[in-house]
Amino acid sequence: MVRENEIRAGETTIDFPSRTDAGVTFIGRINTPWTSRLTCPRQGRPDGPVCSMTIFPPWEQALDGIEHFERLEVLYWLHLSRRDLVRQSPANDGSARGTFALRSPARPNPIGTSIVRLVERQGAVLKVQGLDCLDDTPLLDLKPDRSLFTPIAPPQAGDFEMRQD
Ligand code: SAM
Repeated sequence: MVRENEIRAGETTIDFPSRTDAGVTFIGRINTPWTSRLTCPRQGRPDGPVCSMTIFPPWEQALDGIEHFERLEVLYWLHLSRRDLVRQSPANDGSARGTFALRSPARPNPIGTSIVRLVERQGAVLKVQGLDCLDDTPLLDLKPDRSLFTPIAPPQAGDFEMRQD
């Protein structure tokens, strides 16, 4: 079942802290075909509709080299989410699980992540498949999919450390 912002039987909320510990900057905007949480996919799929991510100035130059990666990890801000749920009932059946045991959009810092297929870059606009967010969702960050990425900086001692026992 899809939540707008209601609280369901069995769920627990807390008083959301009035202070924040860090600030984020939206680096762009995501455009998708979905304008309602009732129709938005729960998870993106690699053969899903082509969506656009428009990068705001001054961040366009940060895209340099991104076209070399077939897949990207995308982080976005699920801006319409509740942030005060600690136990949630995804099935709305009275049973609940902890927020951190779920990939629900309702979380203290409503960050969504998806691995997307990069279809093409048109200047500051990236066309991708694999998203599951509403139209106009703010974009937080982009990284190459880690399985395609080899660190460019030389390794450090910690890279070779293994469990001792
Ligand atoms: N793939 C991401 C993840 O696992 O971190 C997000 C998964 S979350 C289950 C996807 C759902 O979040 C969608 O089906 C929709 O109901 C909801 N959603 C999408 N965009 C949103 C937004 N901007 N604000 C609040 N909820 C959103």
